Amino acid sequence: MFSNKKFQKAKEIPDENLETDYICPDGDMQYRIHSKNDTYTVSCINHIWRCTCEDYMYAKEKHLGSYFCKHIIKAIIYTFLKEK
Ligand SMILES: [Zn+2]
Repeated sequence: MFSNKKFQKAKEIPDENLETDYICPDGDMQYRIHSKNDTYTVSCINHIWRCTCEDYMYAKEKHLGSYFCKHIIKAIIYTFLKEK
């Protein structure tokens, strides 16, 4: 799970920093999220969310599939919770 603080950080990432690479009908998807110094790739493949940032890389060993960095949270908000 993730903390409120991380959720807030995810909400602070502007939508225009997010680029959709693809969204497949079966639910697999990939995004790129640009930050000041880097671009991270966020993907959801076979229901497992992954990110290329250090935060995720550090935690994934223990929590594969259940760790959400702020980029992943941003992608989820953008995809599923965005107010249209
Ligand atoms: Zn990340």
